[in-house]
Amino acid sequence: MSVTDNLPTNQIVYLRPKGGRVLIPEVILASIAPYVQNSWNKPEAGGVIMGRYIKDCEDIVVDKITLPMLGDKSGRFSFFRNKKSHQKVIDHEWEASNYTCTYLGGWHTHPEPVPTPSFVDKNDWKRNMKQDFFDSNCLFFMIVGTAEIRLWEGNKHKNSLTALNRI
Ligand SMILES: [Zn+2]
Repeated sequence: MSVTDNLPTNQIVYLRPKGGRVLIPEVILASIAPYVQNSWNKPEAGGVIMGRYIKDCEDIVVDKITLPMLGDKSGRFSFFRNKKSHQKVIDHEWEASNYTCTYLGGWHTHPEPVPTPSFVDKNDWKRNMKQDFFDSNCLFFMIVGTAEIRLWEGNKHKNSLTALNRI
C-alpha cells in the first residue's frame, strides 16, 4: 500500500473565510496524483491554478492547472516555476474560455503527509499577491502533501494568508 491511498480522490471543497467555497474537482486531483512525493526520489512539482468565479456568490471552481514544464527548476525540497511557459497557458486558457477561466494562484508538492508552508513559500505567496496580475482581491495556494492537500487563501488588501478548512 502506498501513502497516496490516503489522498482524497473525490472532489475536495474548502470553505472560504467570508463565505463561499472553493471546489477542486476529481479530474484536477487525478492530474496532480502522479506528482505526489510518495517515494524518496520524487522531486517537488507544481504549477498554476486557474478557474472560475461563480456569478452572484463567493464560490470558485478550479478548472485547470498547469503541470511541471521544461524550464522549471525542481529539487526534493524546492520548486521554481518558469514564469513564461506557465503564463502562456494562462493566457491561452483565458482566451479559449471566452475570458472566464482566470489565474487563481499556484500549487506545489511537499514530501510530508500534512503539508505546511515554508518561510520561502509564504514569502513567495506574498510576492505573488503583490506582483502577479489578477482581477480579484485574492489568490489561492495549494500544497499537496502525501496524505493531505491543503489550501490557503491570500488576501491582497490585508496582505494575509488563511488556511482553509475542508467541508
Ligand atoms: Zn513549499
